[in-house]
Amino acid sequence: MDNDQIVDALELLVKLWDLHGVNEFKSKNLAFAARGLDKFPGLISALPEAELLAIPGVGKVVVQIVKEVAASGTCPDLEQIIEQTPTGLLTLLKIKGLGPKKVRTIWQELQITEIDDLLAACEDGRLANLKGFGGAVVESVMLNIQFIKSNSSKLRINKAQDLADDIVQKLSHSFTKVAIAGELRRHCEVINSLVFLVETDDLFGASTLLQSVEYLDEDLKESSPFTWRGLATGHLIPIEIHFASAGEFVTKLFALSSTAEHLAHVNFYERFEGKVITEESEIYASQQMPFIEPEMREGLQEFEWQANHGDKALIQHNDLRGCLHNHSTYSDGKNTLLEMAEACRDLGLSYFGIADHSKYASYAGGLKEEDVIRQHEEIDQLNTKWTDFQILKGIESDILPDGSLDYDASVLASFDYVVASVHAGLTMDLEKAMPRVIKAIENPYTSILGHPTGRLLLARPGFPLLMSKILDACKANCVSIELNASPYRLDLDWRHIYEAMDKGIFVSINPDAHAIAGLMDMEWGVKVGRKGGLLRDLTLNALPLEAIKAFFSKS
Ligand SMILES: [Zn+2]
Ligand SMILES: [Zn+2]
Repeated sequence: MDNDQIVDALELLVKLWDLHGVNEFKSKNLAFAARGLDKFPGLISALPEAELLAIPGVGKVVVQIVKEVAASGTCPDLEQIIEQTPTGLLTLLKIKGLGPKKVRTIWQELQITEIDDLLAACEDGRLANLKGFGGAVVESVMLNIQFIKSNSSKLRINKAQDLADDIVQKLSHSFTKVAIAGELRRHCEVINSLVFLVETDDLFGASTLLQSVEYLDEDLKESSPFTWRGLATGHLIPIEIHFASAGEFVTKLFALSSTAEHLAHVNFYERFEGKVITEESEIYASQQMPFIEPEMREGLQEFEWQANHGDKALIQHNDLRGCLHNHSTYSDGKNTLLEMAEACRDLGLSYFGIADHSKYASYAGGLKEEDVIRQHEEIDQLNTKWTDFQILKGIESDILPDGSLDYDASVLASFDYVVASVHAGLTMDLEKAMPRVIKAIENPYTSILGHPTGRLLLARPGFPLLMSKILDACKANCVSIELNASPYRLDLDWRHIYEAMDKGIFVSINPDAHAIAGLMDMEWGVKVGRKGGLLRDLTLNALPLEAIKAFFSKS
């Protein structure tokens, strides 16, 4: 059981105690302990009791709860209170802007426990009549409900990959050949449905075999003799399992992995459907077309991209030379600067860029000027340790509402590079957002524009930007644009990478790691970067150390 799962269970228990208005003291204490545990860099489940007790807020009661959750994923207190809670309230607790106390008011005053009833109360004015629910609250609750409802069956790419890998493993017991197709094979950032292809010459037998696969529930109305449709227990994402004979496997996989627009471009249905093909490359070659990587088969600009850049290489994971946007215990990270740097070195990279939060982000332990000096002294000292590796002095500086950065020029000048990011005041229209972000790009100290739109996939849409103008400003000011590789963000959206490549703008694949494990998120950045046609030659952190220093110096 990993730390996040343990902390999530404790936080749920706190929320439910607050929702029911019970155990007020215990709840405050557990919330404090959960924050301490969340910051703990090691594996909590492996800690002996004495070390657990040394974590701030953790006493005997919390130790007991942590041990139970680590062993079974739950604990008697949690089970008992979930039992007493109408299921719909668990969904209401997920609505951004509604804490447990507000949900309790809604439950007690309006007897509402279901999300659809809450939406109706927003619309007919009942919610606005409650104390503490002004017009702005109601409006934001309505927006967030609509967002949750439209996204409830979708998964972010990393969660979809985990579930798909699990299903492939289970299907492999029954079928000799199993492939992932659909949106996941195309590395889409959000997955609407999981599509698989299995090889079989016995359609009836295949359907019978699937009935015995653990945790797959068939939807008999939607299934057909050629396709199984249904759900995996505990998940809402629709699943399709298609059947193919050995001879038609490659053509079916190609058809199931590409969009209709891509298939139309290669004239697929007229020329290839039903033909025996052993490699997907044959489909393109027979029409004198260049091969298109599976992740790019969207029917958007991949053919144009091939014509412009086809002889140059798409980025691959092992092209990366360093990692530039990371946090440490100086701000809100879980691991020390040295631990993060060593982990980065262990990955075979040659530089580690620290970019802790800046002073305006006080909620995230942003660095005051004296902390910056202290960190730079530590970096200078650490950099004497290695001959093959360096820590670069960066900062994730907040873009203030007026577009300026939150340090004086003298402090900004002390960094090797500056990632400029918006963290507060995200609710902006285009008229506010454009001058704010453009001014930050034009700041002579800005090196990288961090998570450009502030979106959180399936949780929060980004603020609006005219991306073409943002890219022009990046080009004019020698600023790289971040592809934030956290699977929660994947921002810059890959759809804009084509234009960035045409304009010759460097894209930086940044994990925004807040712990060692977060460094691995670069994998998702590479996947969606490739989808948008990201070239190795225009990936900022594929540059060797000296070249990246030259880029930062804007010389
Ligand atoms: Zn950030
Ligand atoms: Zn960050």
